[in-house]
Amino acid sequence: MSRRPIMAGNWKMNNLTSESKSLIEGILAGIKDLNESQMPEVIVAPTFTSLSLVSDMISGNSKIALAAQNCHWESSGAYTGEVSVEMLKDLGCSYIIIGHSERRQYFSETDEMINKKAKSILAGGLLPIICCGETLEQRESGVTDEHIASQIRAALSGLSNSDIAKSVIAYEPIWAIGTGKTCDSVEANRVIAMIRNVVKEVSDSSTADSIRILYGGSVKPATIEEQMSMSDIDGALIGGASLKADSFNEIITNSMKVAV
Ligand code: PEP
Repeated sequence: MSRRPIMAGNWKMNNLTSESKSLIEGILAGIKDLNESQMPEVIVAPTFTSLSLVSDMISGNSKIALAAQNCHWESSGAYTGEVSVEMLKDLGCSYIIIGHSERRQYFSETDEMINKKAKSILAGGLLPIICCGETLEQRESGVTDEHIASQIRAALSGLSNSDIAKSVIAYEPIWAIGTGKTCDSVEANRVIAMIRNVVKEVSDSSTADSIRILYGGSVKPATIEEQMSMSDIDGALIGGASLKADSFNEIITNSMKVAV
């Protein structure tokens, strides 16, 4: 089964609107001459404050899609500071990142909240990018697989097979995020294959074959080719290296050197 790769840039809490404008201009210039049929799906996830601007700048361009970095699961109401799926859809988002380790760690997001968000995103016609990952302590104490499996089972609980097949998972070992330490590609591929197996257990094999599972954690232009040559890695969620158009564009073009 061939799965279309994804290269997704998570801009986190960076960039004023003027900086977002320059960054997206640089990305658009970099992908302009690429052959769309050979390209990965390119996604950018700016802050809420830059979504409208970036949405306008990529409008009508089928080579790039917009993601938000978070949402609330309710559609409206007294939830000060929150943003609903419908509002993000209205701005042109196709994807919403949920369960990023920074949100779990600093904003106490639980598996149950992430499951509610996944359901609300899919019900609203958008697609979740569901993050999971282990701490260094969990890795060193040998509980990586059971921890990730339980995050995935909880996030996908109650979803139909067709909704699971459309969703995206990002395996991001927390110790590799923003640290410059990339997870060894063979090990990342092993964990991602394990995740695919968990997806198969909660759905069926064609769903598990369809779902795209990304790797995230200090991905750079120099690492992406090896990562994309692995059997189960379907793309990357990129933080730091997505904040410069040159490095993000190089990641995209380097990823295309690997036949899928
Ligand atoms: C991320 O935050 O999703 C991420 C993978 O960051 P970085 O690429 O900077 O490690």
